[in-house]
Amino acid sequence: MGDVDVVVVGAGCAGLAAAKALRAAGRSFAVVEAMDRIGGRAWTTDSDFGVPFDIGCAWLHAGDRNPFYPEALAAGWTLYHHDMGLDHLYFGNRRASDDEMARVKAADAALAAAMAAHSGADDRLAALIADCHCLRANATFCGPMDFAADDDEISIADFNAAAELDPNFFTREGFGALVHRWGADVPVTTGCPATRIRWDGPGVEVETPQGTLRGRAAIITVSPGVLQFGSPGFYPALPEAHQEAVFDLPMGLLTKIPLQVKGDRLGLRAFDDLLIEGRGRNDLFFLCFPFDLDLMVGFVGGDFAWEIEAAGRAAAVDFAIGRLADLFGSEVRRAVGHGSMTNWAAERHVRGAYAAARPGRAAAREVLRRPVGDRIWFAGEALAGQGLMQTAAGARLSGAAVAAEVMAAIPA
Ligand SMILES: Cc1cc2nc3c(=O)[nH]c(=O)nc-3n(C[C@H](O)[C@H](O)[C@H](O)COP(=O)(O)OP(=O)(O)OC[C@H]3O[C@@H](n4cnc5c(N)ncnc54)[C@H](O)[C@@H]3O)c2cc1C
Repeated sequence: MGDVDVVVVGAGCAGLAAAKALRAAGRSFAVVEAMDRIGGRAWTTDSDFGVPFDIGCAWLHAGDRNPFYPEALAAGWTLYHHDMGLDHLYFGNRRASDDEMARVKAADAALAAAMAAHSGADDRLAALIADCHCLRANATFCGPMDFAADDDEISIADFNAAAELDPNFFTREGFGALVHRWGADVPVTTGCPATRIRWDGPGVEVETPQGTLRGRAAIITVSPGVLQFGSPGFYPALPEAHQEAVFDLPMGLLTKIPLQVKGDRLGLRAFDDLLIEGRGRNDLFFLCFPFDLDLMVGFVGGDFAWEIEAAGRAAAVDFAIGRLADLFGSEVRRAVGHGSMTNWAAERHVRGAYAAARPGRAAAREVLRRPVGDRIWFAGEALAGQGLMQTAAGARLSGAAVAAEVMAAIPA
């Protein structure tokens, strides 16, 4: 391991984009990645269902400004414009009436208006939701399903800073596979975690089990959840403001519970959105039969997602099948061939889905964007601009933007 201009820590969308920008400018760099693969939270596998399935990111959000979108087209990926909405809503096993569906829509509009006009304190999103007399379905979509956190744990200002993400595109071949294809030409040392970053000298020293890399600067793209666990360590410690910012950006969790459902389509169409409210805060959303595959992809988010991942795959699958049986009768059990569960909580190199600022702490993203000692920069989904935080496109744009900043700060 030799001396380079920039050491990039992490080879997800942000790290790969940073490396590509450095390479395009002719700068020397090294990328270390803790996992034995690139892509991070972008990961497609066909080992579960025999068809590509995205364990992490799946929708190409904001297709009009998402750099992955033109690449997906050029690669011949099959894309479906998914106009996310609410096609079916159940309270337990009771189907919502037309009047109730209309009330959810009206509350959604009222919430959007209140959000746009909001100038008060950066309270919990739950407070605004209550002011707008929203139904729980509204809170579930804003909180667990969108921000991957419960609405009382989300800052209104942070929620407001996230952009409208339509048009959203779903891919048959997999978003993770697309990211892998895009990043495959970047030289990355995988299976090589950065354990400590020393910045007490003139540059940085990135310690790994395979040796120490010396650089003039480092770009750290690990999730705030990983940073919260002190990985990598920093010597000297990060400034207090940065440490606080890391604390103020806890990871939310979104868990997918895909079920293979064979036979008839239960009266549902491909890409229908189905929300089933539970009696506790255990709502379950299904993306139904994408691309007419025999798949119903369940989603739970927020506190319940942490619970269900801890309970394990069998309990999660049982829960999801039980909910379907409540709606469609117990014969649905015979139609379910196989079920699975994603587990980003247990992935110690990520520790969640994506970050959401605590109420009152929306400025944390800005603080963490500030360089440390003109040698250490952070990048990734949590620090993405243009309202694209939490997304893979945002992570990529953040990595490229930070690489440009670093190059300006350390002239060739
Ligand atoms: C279930 C789920 C669903 C999602 N759905 C969508 C979606 O539909 N659309 C969308 O746009 N986004 C979605 N996202 C979010 C999207 O996947 C992320 O925003 C994006 O992939 C994050 O990229 P990143 O580079 O910031 O971080 P990461 O992908 O986490 O990359 C950071 C990398 O750093 C590595 N690392 C960690 N510690 C170390 C260390 N000490 N040394 C070296 N390397 C280290 C990690 O292994 C990882 O590879 C979803 C995420 C999840 C989990």
